Amino acid sequence: MITNTFHIPVSARYYHEFASVEELITILKRYSSEPVLPIGAASNILFTRDFEGLVLRSAMCRARALDEDNDSVLVNADAGLVMDDLIAQIADMGLRGLENLSGIPGTVGASAVQNVGAYGVEAGDCIVAVEAVDRNTLTCCTFEHDQCAFGYRDSFFKHVNKRYIITSVTYRLSKGGPANLSYAALKDYGLTPQSSAKAVREAVLAIRDTKLPNPAEIGSAGSFFRNPVLNDEAYKRFLSRLADLGLTPPRIFETQGTYKLSAAWLIEQAGLKGRQIGGAAVYERQPLVLVNATGTATAGDIQTLAQLVIDTVRERFGIELVPECEII
Ligand SMILES: Cc1cc2nc3c(=O)[nH]c(=O)nc-3n(C[C@H](O)[C@H](O)[C@H](O)COP(=O)(O)OP(=O)(O)OC[C@H]3O[C@@H](n4cnc5c(N)ncnc54)[C@H](O)[C@@H]3O)c2cc1C
Repeated sequence: MITNTFHIPVSARYYHEFASVEELITILKRYSSEPVLPIGAASNILFTRDFEGLVLRSAMCRARALDEDNDSVLVNADAGLVMDDLIAQIADMGLRGLENLSGIPGTVGASAVQNVGAYGVEAGDCIVAVEAVDRNTLTCCTFEHDQCAFGYRDSFFKHVNKRYIITSVTYRLSKGGPANLSYAALKDYGLTPQSSAKAVREAVLAIRDTKLPNPAEIGSAGSFFRNPVLNDEAYKRFLSRLADLGLTPPRIFETQGTYKLSAAWLIEQAGLKGRQIGGAAVYERQPLVLVNATGTATAGDIQTLAQLVIDTVRERFGIELVPECEII
């Protein structure tokens, strides 16, 4: 059985954990003809069927400081380490960079694949290198920051057919500097630029608690959809649609001629908050999240609900929502 945060029962033909790079290479050699799926906590995957191949999970969970200068420390963390455990440790040490990502479920390896983001920060902002094993050559390789092509919940690793199994990630963390309070909710919480990394972490955890389901209690993959990013022309069309509907535009994040909209706002305005199909529901407190509301939802329930959300938002706003969650 593959544990996953949707709490949907699913299994794999083969499942292996690796405790060293050598063991990983041995496993990959043995199953060279099988499809391979590397996973961490499976907190961003919807399994619609059993996986007919090899599921791999890193059991390497250590972190170490590699180097430091006056301003920063380089920390290398194994792919299997729980990302939030790493963030707790480094925030305790007073190091800044990842604290806004506190409370995101999942592992260090996936933080690089997903370029996880929250509260104005993305993991890629701090990642200087990613170490991996290449399944084609069975050799170790290192990707520098620029080779990772980090984008909004995106990276090079998402586009190479699971070729690289990430074994560790190296982050550069700051010894000083101001807290990143670019996200209004953090300022509203009373944080100041002088607030410590630990104070920011506690605020982020408290804010997340009010909005997001605890994966131990309610199954989900966090945000099921990406926030749509529109070009100038599409944005103008969207504004004119809102005017026709008599709606005031939501808060928009504008960067370099693109406009990022809140998918949660679109879903809520489409009247879908709380909508349920089978055991799946649009989460009341954060409509971007689809949940296994009854604990017995099937992947089919989640997919049918996701399609209803996509169709309804398209009909009302002319905008196509795209899943952030990987569907397998
Ligand atoms: C309640 C909740 C809240 C969430 N909040 C956020 C949030 O605020 N921001 C955010 O960005 N995400 C959020 N997520 C989504 C999820 O936690 C992240 O995407 C996380 O990075 C996934 O980590 P994971 O270890 O579970 O990866 P998985 O879901 O197991 O895998 C994700 C992807 O990474 C690949 N992968 C995993 N490990 C490796 C490896 N070692 N080598 C190569 N590829 C690998 C997988 O093949 C897959 O493509 C949330 C999820 C939940 C359930």
